[in-house]
Amino acid sequence: MAAPAPLPIPGSETPDPSFGDLLAARPALAMDPLAGLMVEEVPLARIAAAVGSPTWVYSAGTLRRRARMLKDALAEAGLDASIHYATKANPALAVVNLLAQEGLGADVVSEGELRGALAAGVPASGIVFSGVGKTDREMRLAIAEDILQLNIESAEEAEMLSAVAASLGRKARVALRVNPDVDAKTHAKITTGLTENKFGVPIATAPELYARLCALPGLDPVGLTVHIGSQIAQGIGSYRAAYQRLGELVRELRAAGHPVHRVDCGGGLGITYRDEIPATPAALAGAIKAGLGDLGVKIMMEPGRWIAGPAGVLLTRVIVEKHATTRRFVIVDAAMNDLLRPAMYEAWHGILPVSPSAFRAPLSPADVVGPVCESSDTFTKARDLPPLPPESLVAILDAGAYGASMSSTYNARPLAAEVMVEGARFSVIRDRQSYDALLAGQRLPSWTEGQNPG
Ligand SMILES: *Cc1c(COP(=O)(O)O)cnc(C)c1O
Repeated sequence: MAAPAPLPIPGSETPDPSFGDLLAARPALAMDPLAGLMVEEVPLARIAAAVGSPTWVYSAGTLRRRARMLKDALAEAGLDASIHYATKANPALAVVNLLAQEGLGADVVSEGELRGALAAGVPASGIVFSGVGKTDREMRLAIAEDILQLNIESAEEAEMLSAVAASLGRKARVALRVNPDVDAKTHAKITTGLTENKFGVPIATAPELYARLCALPGLDPVGLTVHIGSQIAQGIGSYRAAYQRLGELVRELRAAGHPVHRVDCGGGLGITYRDEIPATPAALAGAIKAGLGDLGVKIMMEPGRWIAGPAGVLLTRVIVEKHATTRRFVIVDAAMNDLLRPAMYEAWHGILPVSPSAFRAPLSPADVVGPVCESSDTFTKARDLPPLPPESLVAILDAGAYGASMSSTYNARPLAAEVMVEGARFSVIRDRQSYDALLAGQRLPSWTEGQNPG
């Protein structure tokens, strides 16, 4: 029998999806023949006129629908589960608040995210603190706020946290992050489940370490946690393997007399940027049920991208179209400092023109680039696009996760505005950073006293 054909590598052989295909797969987007590209019922041209560009635009309906789909999938599998949205995907207070209204907790990785989740209305009892390097100060705050749990990534961290908690006369609820050594087959920069990664403890050492956690005076071990990578889009196999191994570990720990009440199944579920076919929430719930369903443990999940990614676009305006000898460059006012994913991960994002006439115009290859002084400031190469004269608007799709949250001010470019759309309404949820704010807090050294500008 012939060997099975290898899975296609996203972004390589297959032709790009058409504008129609992109729209059909994104229910919050529509091309109105008069108003142009819309998010829900709001024309993007209207947002650009009111707020300027570049601007992140999030669909409240999409956030809500995706949160509900995940909840429903877990409930239909009969799992006692809670969802803790990974706020690093998109920490906008309005986004976290909307998801909190849907009953989601938060997974945070820094003091800033912890403060943000609390400010957005997530109860401390719904907050999980993850990450390989929690500082003493972060541990203190988490314990003072009495958050749901801290996920422990090493023996050394366990000792530190126990000491901090004990000094406060408290016990910190902790889950041990186990590295199940499965290959999630995602991009090297976002895989986390292999022993060579910095995350978690090797599964073979987990029993010994869990026993140690139980013995530490400042810790209250409640269970296990796992997170094998991000943008997992190669089927359900790696999830199944991870949860299977975790289930075996739960049995082993219990046999040794240790309490294991919860398993936090992590995040990582991928989305379709181009032609990836990630697992469905139902398949993920099935994998959790198969590995952990009969243990009577409380299930937790930490999705980020899956909820927020498809909910956002980056709205940008063409500055100029540059015709070089062999290439057409569309230079837009968004750049790698706004949306880093193409430069950092060679990520593919759908790009749609906003005006109805551009949507129907003949296509030819173009490179869409930002104004930043780096060659990697390229959103796409040789993409079939219509003529895009100066002032044309384009939308870069699926930018709701790891978009604004990874932005910088490189090239002294202010952080872009963020807008939320709900039905026919829109609201600025974060002002465009002002130039005053960009310079704020800077001064010349003290020894040049009296010569400070301004
Ligand atoms: C980043 C992260 C997540 C969320 O990952 P997504 O790919 O956005 O779902 C969840 N848990 C942990 C520990 C993370 O580091």
